[in-house]
Amino acid sequence: MSTCSGNCEGCASKGNCSEEKHEPLLKNVKKAVLVLSGKGGVGKSTVAASLAVTLAKMGKKVGLLDVDFHGPSQPTLFNVTHLRMCGTEQGMEPLEVAGVKLVSIGLLLDDPDRAIIWRGPVKMGAVKQLLEEVDWGDLDVLVLDFPPGTGDESLSACQLIDCEKTAVVVTTPQEVALADCRKCIDFCHQVKVPVAGIVENMSGFVCPDCGHRHPLFSQGGGARLAAGAKVPLLAQLPLDPLFLQRCDAGELPEGLAENAVISGEMARVAEAVL
Ligand code: ADP
Repeated sequence: MSTCSGNCEGCASKGNCSEEKHEPLLKNVKKAVLVLSGKGGVGKSTVAASLAVTLAKMGKKVGLLDVDFHGPSQPTLFNVTHLRMCGTEQGMEPLEVAGVKLVSIGLLLDDPDRAIIWRGPVKMGAVKQLLEEVDWGDLDVLVLDFPPGTGDESLSACQLIDCEKTAVVVTTPQEVALADCRKCIDFCHQVKVPVAGIVENMSGFVCPDCGHRHPLFSQGGGARLAAGAKVPLLAQLPLDPLFLQRCDAGELPEGLAENAVISGEMARVAEAVL
């Protein structure tokens, strides 16, 4: 029988009670955008970073939270692997890069090459801590870069984040990637996060010699996935070796700025999530 008086202050069960009323997490964040993919290597982190930079260029206050504990790529994309986040009285302070407030587990570890070997509950605790203890300030959008698939990190973040949420699902055009993305979309339905749409990445290859776009994988996969899920196909990003070089060098914002096709497509994604 519940003995809850509804008054949490001074209650002996405070901290252990399911009825307890919590301070809302991310109360100064207007919207969370969850960037998901079924498989690794399809460009999810690249799309998450490009989206954050694009939104910042549009004048929005933007945060980027790298929740990919096993393979945090964001510090590499922004060339800040050598920097560490600091703590203040208000909480952990994000790094400021290209107008984006960046938080990544990679910016907290002593040794970036050390593998994270955590069971589910530890990962869930870490997600909660990052959401609770980072001093994000006021944000229009918090972009979250999730690990591939539908594991503990994605589930906890979806359950814990109480501001408005929307998801962007990143895929490559071939069937093996699409099949896993259908699971991601089903995951979003189950956790009641609306899907803003699909981004098809590596949608053709831009030849550095002739500048033409050639199909690399099968064509039309993103469109089929979007039609099946009744969500928009937001963008088709070509695989561009010059952009890849920029990303590898930690110059994603510069790579984005000089690539009219990718930045144009990302502007459509940004408009859609807003
Ligand atoms: P994921 O987060 O899905 O594992 P990443 O974003 O880390 O994938 O991308 C994998 C690799 O592909 C990275 O080297 C990245 O720079 C590269 N990449 C992603 N998208 C593109 C693109 N459109 N053009 C060129 N390289 C890309």
